[in-house]
Amino acid sequence: MGKKFLCKDIGMDCPFEAHADTEDELMQKIAEHGQTAHGMTEIPADLMEKIKQAIKDE
Ligand SMILES: [Zn+2]
Repeated sequence: MGKKFLCKDIGMDCPFEAHADTEDELMQKIAEHGQTAHGMTEIPADLMEKIKQAIKDE
């Protein structure tokens, strides 16, 4: 079973979906996406919490 994250689940108007085997791998993809698509060089702690809550098993 893998993990998934949908950008819209944290309130973004964005169709991005990330899928990975582990949460670490997923967080890396999310960080990359945040940087390229949303201009976030660093993810703030409160947003990080939201992201972790939005991560689901698949
Ligand atoms: Zn996004």
